[in-house]
Amino acid sequence: MPKKFVCDAVVVGAGPNGLAAAIRMAQAGCSVRVLEANESVGGGTRSAELTLPGFVHDICSAIHPLGLGSPFLRHLPLEKYGLSWIHPEFPLAHPLDDGMVALLQRSVAGTAAGLAVLATIVVISPVLRAINFSLPARSLDMSSLYTWLNLDGLAIGAILAFWLRVPGFSRASLRRVAVPLLALGIVLFAISQRSHFSRAVLSQSWCDLAAAGVLGCAMLLATGPWRRLAANPVLEFLGFISYGLYLVHVLSFAVIDSLFSPKLSSMITILGPTAAMLVRFVLGGGLAIGVAYLSRRSLEEIFLKMNFGPKPAREFRQGSPDIRGLNPNN
Ligand SMILES: Cc1cc2nc3c(=O)[nH]c(=O)nc-3n(C[C@H](O)[C@H](O)[C@H](O)COP(=O)(O)OP(=O)(O)OC[C@H]3O[C@@H](n4cnc5c(N)ncnc54)[C@H](O)[C@@H]3O)c2cc1C
Repeated sequence: MPKKFVCDAVVVGAGPNGLAAAIRMAQAGCSVRVLEANESVGGGTRSAELTLPGFVHDICSAIHPLGLGSPFLRHLPLEKYGLSWIHPEFPLAHPLDDGMVALLQRSVAGTAAGLAVLATIVVISPVLRAINFSLPARSLDMSSLYTWLNLDGLAIGAILAFWLRVPGFSRASLRRVAVPLLALGIVLFAISQRSHFSRAVLSQSWCDLAAAGVLGCAMLLATGPWRRLAANPVLEFLGFISYGLYLVHVLSFAVIDSLFSPKLSSMITILGPTAAMLVRFVLGGGLAIGVAYLSRRSLEEIFLKMNFGPKPAREFRQGSPDIRGLNPNN
């Protein structure tokens, strides 16, 4: 073997791993020879002008969180040789079926700030309800409508949605939270029954917490050995109309009350309060379900089927205005 080929180590392949190994050995004082079959080094991480001059494409890998996270690569002065990391505003976006998108923010502080706002809403809403109840002028009472007084329901739902997407989330962690939430909802319900004041302040809170607990238990059911119980047409139908139901149910009961309140009052004396309440529930619930179904079928469905995604690719010709507009050299 000619003397010029003698070295401590030979690395075959100048991809990121081969280069890292070669650099590590060179740092330890070994002489290293790197053999690469391609004309340029970099392996899967290379980029090149594959289509038009000025348009640089990734040949293979495109997104490099492990490059940034690698303790070895991080300690190398790669920026000195022209490396610059490009960070998108949102590293991860997960589109959901209903058209909404769950976004991962880059900054832990940004995500924590969002969660802090939600937690504040959960704590402050009962306080606002207490203030609203204590106000002498009841003309400001808006507690029967969906207003800022009831924002904690939405906030608890949003916190739950965040939490379900935390990496490492498991059924065991859901079980640890769902049952205590349900229990807390029941305890608050008992407390809320003590006075008009506690009812005004806590009735929304116990409903929210108990609903979150029931939802968690339903998810446990739907993902466990008894999952067939959750996958049934009635629940699927309620899921189909859930958004409209959420929006319209308060209004539906208000309509039923204003149309039938004298009849419902006389029903209380004739049939008793439980039967009258059941009749009111059936009428209000039926109206809400009907409106929600019509809304989903004739309005929401149209929006959900609208394509807000990327437009189909167009053909670009070299020299066309589109290409000139996109060319980074222009
Ligand atoms: C389509 C695709 C997309 C990917 N996207 C991502 C991504 O977005 N993010 C991410 O982190 N990872 C991604 N990966 C994985 C990533 O590309 C690899 O993990 C990484 O390139 C592996 O590095 P390496 O050094 O081990 O091998 P490689 O990068 O493959 O490098 C091997 C090198 O060895 C050379 N070589 C091979 N045989 C010989 C030989 N006999 N003699 C001389 N030279 C030789 C090759 O020419 C090449 O340059 C993707 C992989 C693929 C296939």
